[in-house]
Amino acid sequence: MDRAHCVIIGNGPAANSAAFTLRDNDPDLRITVIGEERDHEYRPDLLPDYIAGKATEEDLFIGKSESYKGHDIKLRLGQRVVHADFQQRELLLEHNEVVRFTGLIIACGAKPRIPEPLAVFEDLMLTLKTPADARLWIERLARVDTILIVGGDLTSLSLTKALLHLGKRVVFMLDCGSFWPVPFSPELREQVARKLTEHGVEVTECTKIRRISRISDHSFEVATDRRTMVVGILGAFFGLVPNVKFLAGSGLDIERGILVDEYLKTSRENVYAAGDCAQVYHPEIRDYWVSIGYTNAVELGKAAALNLLGDMVAVNVKRESILEVDGINVNSSWWMEF
Ligand SMILES: Cc1cc2nc3c(=O)[nH]c(=O)nc-3n(C[C@H](O)[C@H](O)[C@H](O)COP(=O)(O)OP(=O)(O)OC[C@H]3O[C@@H](n4cnc5c(N)ncnc54)[C@H](O)[C@@H]3O)c2cc1C
Repeated sequence: MDRAHCVIIGNGPAANSAAFTLRDNDPDLRITVIGEERDHEYRPDLLPDYIAGKATEEDLFIGKSESYKGHDIKLRLGQRVVHADFQQRELLLEHNEVVRFTGLIIACGAKPRIPEPLAVFEDLMLTLKTPADARLWIERLARVDTILIVGGDLTSLSLTKALLHLGKRVVFMLDCGSFWPVPFSPELREQVARKLTEHGVEVTECTKIRRISRISDHSFEVATDRRTMVVGILGAFFGLVPNVKFLAGSGLDIERGILVDEYLKTSRENVYAAGDCAQVYHPEIRDYWVSIGYTNAVELGKAAALNLLGDMVAVNVKRESILEVDGINVNSSWWMEF
């Protein structure tokens, strides 16, 4: 009989934790990690410091690739899963290769959200999720002085710290729909606006962006309902949404993320989901919650791996630590001071 083959989609903290947990507990299992990005695993929390010049590439990359080899885990980078067939137990990769699995852990994380009214300007805006995004920020920042940030999630605050460290002028259009993963309140908006102002950021009213025109390679004119300004970079920060589009039509139960029970099991046999892409059932609140943050991802990855191997590790999140944000239950292990 063929050797059991567990495939993990993703190469972030949830995926890494799952891969090493599988290996630690089953020396014979064939394990493959498939990650869309070309970069090895990195610390997303250090991306703003990397932009600020306070962290190096060496700090950013965790160096697990050697460790993967040493643990007989096959790592496939720069390969995107575009379809999953749970009946045949097959994944289709973008370059048309089919990968078969006996067990699957989906740890495909989340990507920056651009709200519908701004989607038309998407190509003109920078976000920050990957080292490739960070490199683009560094390249553009070398030539510009003023940055307009629209939104206001935790990533934007980390990035603003970096921009101020670099001596840049930051104009912040603080949007009330964007405090993800913190629930919005007018008090919170005031508090954040005050802190930003204290740090030298120009906080501007949240109004509709009417037009963005490229003036040169390094400047844009942005016209809102109230004013027109010339900026070098436009950054959009409205939180993250699970990367689950490629699973639509696969038969997996998906709401905002992939629906799993408290053991991280999906509606399909031997298929688990962990990290930012999962929406986990909480028996006490009788509803699902979304996970945010590095520590959460590592813990969920570990639990999913153990359960795939036959354990029954329930994910235990205290009811009080689940917050309702924009109608979504969220548990975040990521908080920061500005
Ligand atoms: C700039 C920034 C700063 C942050 N700072 C902090 C912090 O200070 N503290 C904290 O706790 N959290 C922080 N976070 C959040 C934290 O990084 C995430 O919660 C965590 O990375 C989630 O881990 P994950 O493994 O679920 O997903 P991700 O880290 O998003 O990894 C998903 C992986 O799946 C891959 N993938 C996606 N789709 C496919 C596909 N179709 N095929 C193949 N591969 C695919 C991606 O390439 C990636 O490798 C930060 C996030 C950002 C963006």
